[in-house]
Amino acid sequence: MSKQTLSFQAEVKQILHLVTHSLYSNKEIFLRELISNASDACDKLRFEALNNAALYEDAPNLEVRVAFDAEAKTITITDNGIGLSESEAVANLGTIAKSGTREFMAKLEGDQKKDANLIGQFGVGFYSGFIVADRITVESRRAGLKPEEGVRWTSEGAGDFEVETITRPERGTSVTLHLREGEDEFLAAWKLRSIIGKYSDHISLPILMRKEEWDSEAGKQKLTDEWAPVNKASALWTRAKNDITKEQYEEFYKQISYDTEAPLAYTHNRVEGRSEYTQLLYIPAKAPFDLWNRDKRGGVKLYVKRVFIMDDAEALMPVYLRFVKGVIDSADLPLNVSRELLQESRDVKAIREGSTKRVLSMLESLADSEDSAEREKYARFWKDFGAVLKEGVGEDHANQERLAKLLRFASTQADEGVSLSEYVKRMKEGQEAIYYITADTLAAAKSSPQLEIFRKKGIEVLLLTDRVDEWMLAHLFEFDGKPLQSVAKGAVDLGKLQDEEEKKKTEEAAEAFKPLLEKLKETLKDRAKDVRVTTRLVDSPACLVVDEGDISGHLARLLKQAGQDAPKGKPILEVNAEHALVKRLDGSAQFDDLAHILFDQALLAEGGQLEDPAAYVRRVNALLTS
Ligand code: ADP
Ligand code: MG
Repeated sequence: MSKQTLSFQAEVKQILHLVTHSLYSNKEIFLRELISNASDACDKLRFEALNNAALYEDAPNLEVRVAFDAEAKTITITDNGIGLSESEAVANLGTIAKSGTREFMAKLEGDQKKDANLIGQFGVGFYSGFIVADRITVESRRAGLKPEEGVRWTSEGAGDFEVETITRPERGTSVTLHLREGEDEFLAAWKLRSIIGKYSDHISLPILMRKEEWDSEAGKQKLTDEWAPVNKASALWTRAKNDITKEQYEEFYKQISYDTEAPLAYTHNRVEGRSEYTQLLYIPAKAPFDLWNRDKRGGVKLYVKRVFIMDDAEALMPVYLRFVKGVIDSADLPLNVSRELLQESRDVKAIREGSTKRVLSMLESLADSEDSAEREKYARFWKDFGAVLKEGVGEDHANQERLAKLLRFASTQADEGVSLSEYVKRMKEGQEAIYYITADTLAAAKSSPQLEIFRKKGIEVLLLTDRVDEWMLAHLFEFDGKPLQSVAKGAVDLGKLQDEEEKKKTEEAAEAFKPLLEKLKETLKDRAKDVRVTTRLVDSPACLVVDEGDISGHLARLLKQAGQDAPKGKPILEVNAEHALVKRLDGSAQFDDLAHILFDQALLAEGGQLEDPAAYVRRVNALLTS
C-alpha cells in the first residue's frame, strides 16, 4: 500500500500545540512516557499470550531497548510487546481515546512552570515525544500479523501524520525521535541512564542500553554491540521493605498516579492467610480533577503473580476509597481472571476488606498522631477528600464506627476540624444527644434561628454543609452511644438541660397562647402541618421544623436541585411567644398578613424559596405603610 497522509483529530492538534510551545520544565519525562508505553505493550502481549502462546513467536523475553545515534541526532525506544497494526497506529496515535484533554489544557494554562510532568496523567503521554523531537517515526508490527503487515507512522507534530505499510520481521514497536535543534544533551548514555534511573527504575522489564568502552584512540567512550540492563527490573512491590527508600516509594507513586506531588501516606504489606497477596497503597496529597466522578476507574492496578492484569479493577476497593492509588498483586487469582469473575471472587472480597482496613489505619494514624505535622496532613486530606469519605458511612457498614471517628465537622465552636469524639468530650452535663444542623452554606447554618437556644445555653451544634451530609446522616444514628439529633427536626427536647422554671414558663405560655395558635393554624393550614410555641428561639420570631420522620427542608431542596421528586410534606411553624412581632398578632387587624409574613420569613431564614415572592412583598409593604 502506498503512503497515506491523515489529519490528527482536533484535540490532538491542540495538545500538540501546547506540547511543542509550552512545556519548559521536566522535558526529560518524554523518555518515561515512551518507556511506559513500551512496558504497557509488553504487559498486553503477556496478557493476550495467556490464551495464545504463539504470539511470543521466537522472542519470549520481553524487553525494552533504548539507543541513540549522536550523528543522526536520534533516540530510539524499541520494545517487543504487542505492537500496532496499521489501523491501530492510525487510531491510537492519531486520536485521543480518553477524556480529560480539556482539563489537561486548563491545568497547563494555570501552571506557571508549564511542567511536562502533567502529561501522562491525561492519557496523552505519547505526544510528549514532540517536546524534544521535531519528527517522530514509529515502526511497528502487531504480534500475530505477518512481517509484511508492518506499519510506519511519521509525523512532524503539526496537523497531520503519514502511514505506510512496511515489512518488519520483528514483533513490537520502535519509536524514533529526531531531536530538535538544541536538544543534544539527550544524546549521551549517562544522561539517558540517569533519566531511566530516576523515572523508570521500577519497570519490571529489563530496559537495555548498549554498553560502552573506552576508545583510547579517540580519547572518549565508544558504544559496543553488547546490551545490558540499566534498571533493576524487579517490580518495586516485590522487593523487601527494607530495601526500598522513601524516595523510591514516592517515585513509584508518581509513576502510577501521574501526580507531581509526593503522596500523603503509603502502606506496603505482604498478606498471608486465607488469601495471599501483596499490597502497596498510597493516599494522594491532593484531589484529582475527576474525584467526583463515581464511575471513574479505580486507582488500583491488579497483578496476578507479577503479571499485570488490569489497571481499573473497581472490585479491589470500595467506591468511597476511589482516590487510593497503588498495586495489588495476588498469588491466588487465576491469570485469566475476568472483570465478572473479580466481582464474585471470594479472594477479591478478602483483598478488598483487607485493603480497606489498611487504608483506614493509614488515615487513623495520621488523624490520631502525636505529631502535629501528621495531624495537619490529616486536616489537608480531609479538606480534599472528606466529602468522599463520608459516602463510606452509608456504604460500608462494617467499618462505620471507624469511619465515624475519622469524620471532621464545623461547629458552633470551631469552623473546622471538630471530630465526634471531641464533641462528645465537650458535651454539657445532662446533654444526651449530639446536635447538628444542615444547611447550604456555613454562613446560613451559623445564622439559623434554630440555633438560638443552643447558643444561649452554650451547647455545641455541628454545622453540616456538604451535599452528602443528609445522606450520611440517614445512615449514622449514633456515636459513642449518643444519638445524633437534628436541631431542625421534632420538638426541641433539651431534657435535663432545661431547668424547672423554664419548663413551667413554656407550659404557661403555650396555655395562654392556645387561642392564638388555633387562629394561626387555621390561617396557615395550607402551608403548615402544625403551629406551636417553642423554646428554641431567642431572637427570632419563628422558625420551621419538620417531624422526626420527615425529610428536612434542606434535603428537600437538594433533591429538587438534583431533579428528583421530594415527598411533599408540610413543615411545622414554631413561634417565639416572647417576640414583639408575635405579641403583635394578638387582636391585630392585619392578622392574616402578619401570619403569612411570619411563615415566609421563617422559610427564608432557613434558605428556602418563597412560592409567591410578590405576595410576600405586597404584605410587607402593606404593613410598612400602615
Ligand atoms: P496511554 O499510554 O495513556 O494510553 P499514550 O499517549 O501514551 O496514552 O499512548 C497512546 C496509545 O498509543 C496507547 O494507548 C497505545 O495504544 C499506543 N501505543 C503507544 N506506544 C505504544 C507501543 N510502544 N506499543 C504499542 N502501542 C503503543
Ligand atoms: Mg502512555
